[in-house]
Amino acid sequence: MRHISTRGKISNLSFEEAVMMGLADDGGLLIPKEFPQIQKYLEKWRGYSFVELSIAIISQYIDGELPDADIEMIIKKSYSTFSNKEITPIVSVGNLNVVELFHGPTFAFKDIALQFLGNLFEYFLQKRGHYLTILGATSGDTGSAAIYGLRGKKNVNLFMLHPKGRVSKVQEYQMTTVLDDNIHNVAVEGTFDDAQTIVKALFNDLEFKQKYHLGAVNSINWARILAQIVYYFYSYFRVTSSNAELVNFSVPTGNFGDILAGYYAKKMGLPIEKLVVATNQNDILDRFFNQGEYVKKTVIPSLSPSMDIQISSNFERYLYDLGGKNSIQLNAWMKSFHETGRIKIDENLLKQAQSEIVSKSVTEEETLETIQEYYEKFNYLLDPHTAVGVKASCEISNEIPLICLATAHPAKFSTAINKAIGTDPDIPSTLQSLESQKTRCETVAANKEDVRNLMNKHLN
Ligand SMILES: *Cc1c(COP(=O)(O)O)cnc(C)c1O
Repeated sequence: MRHISTRGKISNLSFEEAVMMGLADDGGLLIPKEFPQIQKYLEKWRGYSFVELSIAIISQYIDGELPDADIEMIIKKSYSTFSNKEITPIVSVGNLNVVELFHGPTFAFKDIALQFLGNLFEYFLQKRGHYLTILGATSGDTGSAAIYGLRGKKNVNLFMLHPKGRVSKVQEYQMTTVLDDNIHNVAVEGTFDDAQTIVKALFNDLEFKQKYHLGAVNSINWARILAQIVYYFYSYFRVTSSNAELVNFSVPTGNFGDILAGYYAKKMGLPIEKLVVATNQNDILDRFFNQGEYVKKTVIPSLSPSMDIQISSNFERYLYDLGGKNSIQLNAWMKSFHETGRIKIDENLLKQAQSEIVSKSVTEEETLETIQEYYEKFNYLLDPHTAVGVKASCEISNEIPLICLATAHPAKFSTAINKAIGTDPDIPSTLQSLESQKTRCETVAANKEDVRNLMNKHLN
């Protein structure tokens, strides 16, 4: 399979080149040139386990570039770290089907993609004898998924910056109890923005960037989207009894990576009627799907922090399709967004978008009420992100099965849970035991020279 950039200046990349490039060199996002049509496999795939399905779907895209045995090895290894044998089990709660995506090592859905990406990086780097240094900043929630994706991997080092004392205890322990030699936790004496600014400055230092082969694991890597397509198929097969049935999905959304995977599953031929974009009060996507305008505002912190975004980094891939796979149109939109903070699409395109995607922005109060309601009625605890998705699903008819994606374990957000139901959630023993484990973390002042020195010290 060949890969191209949405901006039109990069084309003909192999899967390996697309994964290793991450963000396209022309500033766009990488996508496969074509989407395999899989209707003919639906019957056969229905009985597959998660891992079998993952191998089948991902092989469609890798299309002979890697030996089958290697793809199988990478995928099996990626999901061997999950605590549930189904990987993404589906539970029925009232009228809903909830697909639990949080049984990976850090109790959130990003594990599904990052376990796979970490193994792919290691595989490609070892094959070429190359080295990579991943540098990132986290406000708490997503750093641990990257750390667990890369821990112990050969030929790759990870430096993860977090604002000292400003992440929750669970989040801090999840990161700092990982003692593998290639993982470097760095506590920055400052805010998340300070940490983020340092990371950007170091990436802009081209000499430094080249010297250490600096890379990122942000949510725009094509391999992450690819890995996420699988659970749309898996949950479809579990809630339907024939491939003639349609389903709806509701997806708690921030950077548009998760729901984009569902959109691509539909494009491949999975019978999906509608996808619901569920946002919290940071509603840039909801405003787009209701009004046809994509306009930047400031981020307001919410109970579902992993969805507190101003700009959805994966949205460009959807816009590319909406504009008729036309890089000239896409470039014009992105230019407008860059210069004026705004994209406006015409009435026809808005109608087209609304025919496949509906959206709702959920308030903080509604989030808490939803957690409380599902706990009282069904004794099922939704985390605040999942609650946003469940609440937003009221936007669509309930005549066909509805699948809600559960993106995090409630124990990761105990403050919000306590606010909703008046008690703390049960904490799984693996999370509880972190407190008593050995930790490793280095503290630096909030300036790029100190971070640079620390990286030099470890890498030389
Ligand atoms: C990242 C994240 C989301 C949002 O997913 P996107 O792909 O960014 O839209 C939702 N819930 C949780 C718990 C997350 O970590």
